Amino acid sequence: MKAGLVYTGTREIENGWVHVRHGEIIEVGSGPPPHAGEVVDEPNCVAMPGLVNAHDHMYQWATRGYVADGTLFEWLRALYPVWARIDADTVRVAARAAMARLLLSGCTLSTDHHYVFPHGRPGIFEALVDAARELGLRFHPCRGSMSLGESKGGLPPDSVVEDEDAILAHTEAMIDRYHDSKGRSMCRVVVAPCSPFSVTPQLMRDSAALARRHHVRLHTHLAETLDEERFCLEKFGRRPVELMEDLGWVGEDVWYAHGIHLSDAEVDRIAEVKTGIAHCPSSNMRLGAGACRVEDLVRAGARVGLGVDGAASNEDANLAMEAHQALLLARVRSSSPRSLDARTAWRLATRGGAECLGRDDCGTLEPGKCADIACFRVDDLAHAGIKDLVAGLALAPPARAQTVVVDGRVVVRGGRLLTADEDEVARDIAATSRRLAG
Ligand SMILES: [Zn+2]
Repeated sequence: MKAGLVYTGTREIENGWVHVRHGEIIEVGSGPPPHAGEVVDEPNCVAMPGLVNAHDHMYQWATRGYVADGTLFEWLRALYPVWARIDADTVRVAARAAMARLLLSGCTLSTDHHYVFPHGRPGIFEALVDAARELGLRFHPCRGSMSLGESKGGLPPDSVVEDEDAILAHTEAMIDRYHDSKGRSMCRVVVAPCSPFSVTPQLMRDSAALARRHHVRLHTHLAETLDEERFCLEKFGRRPVELMEDLGWVGEDVWYAHGIHLSDAEVDRIAEVKTGIAHCPSSNMRLGAGACRVEDLVRAGARVGLGVDGAASNEDANLAMEAHQALLLARVRSSSPRSLDARTAWRLATRGGAECLGRDDCGTLEPGKCADIACFRVDDLAHAGIKDLVAGLALAPPARAQTVVVDGRVVVRGGRLLTADEDEVARDIAATSRRLAG
């Protein structure tokens, strides 16, 4: 792979190249490249590490545009009954759309937090894994869960919550079937109860024990809104982070989505225990949830990644756009243009997300790392002539990537997806969204 500028994550190499063999980066350099069987030459592009999506709910691609002006709890209460109608086919179609859009935005590694498993609808988790294999995305699916229905004081209706023993048994079955802990793994399973207001403390404890028995990671939503904080204080007498401490949900094998409403002490504590935060700026702004203290977390040394969150609270899945949004939102929050610079924003979108997901083999372009590469055009009207290209791509985010390589395989070329027909994916999601709306 040759590019006008190779941005490795730490170095910027003009007319650089990345030499790849069997899905792994062998060497990065400049000048005449070593001989290679296949050469991808992008002189008008910046090549950078493939972007990492640290939080998502792909099934939500089928419910975009609902409750356009609601708070998180209003939006959830309106959507739960719609989500109760999903099945494996809905999830397959929605995941193909979400993954297509992610790949086209330069994302090469993504998680998906799936927590809606309506009774009597088998094959949902399998549909997610199959879609990632088909489209060629490196994938960390979360077996999410909800067990605290309205009748027990939770937020979701009883019709969408599951029995806790069934959740744990199915989670273990999915780990046994799909989790691959080896280097360059294309699939790792995560254990992920949904949120403090939709599962019981006992399920959180049991999930942590299950995950640690199998050496897999833990993920959940935390400190997203002040409504959640009030819920935790009223029901448990604890702030959200205190509740996680009580339940054993801290440590380097845990990452939270959002982490917005944190005290100074909680910012320091999260950095100290190496728990990750997946910052989702577009979703947070869409729901008016608040602004994550990204610059404070980064300064404290915390692991911070970026996520698109579900498309029902974003309406898109463009990870390069999230780097742009993170940069601007941090500057609005602090009233300072120096609170988050473009290179830090790209680090969050690459290595920061890889750290959240526990991937020390992803997130930078270096020998020995996975050959996951995103190339963005800088000769198009949006970017032509921009002086600082790396800053320019964050300030004026690309609509789509030109070339994307995952595990050494070209999956996007010339801005077109090679692993699926984009028009067909769009037609399918339109039909599925209409059917689900009823
Ligand atoms: Zn979420």
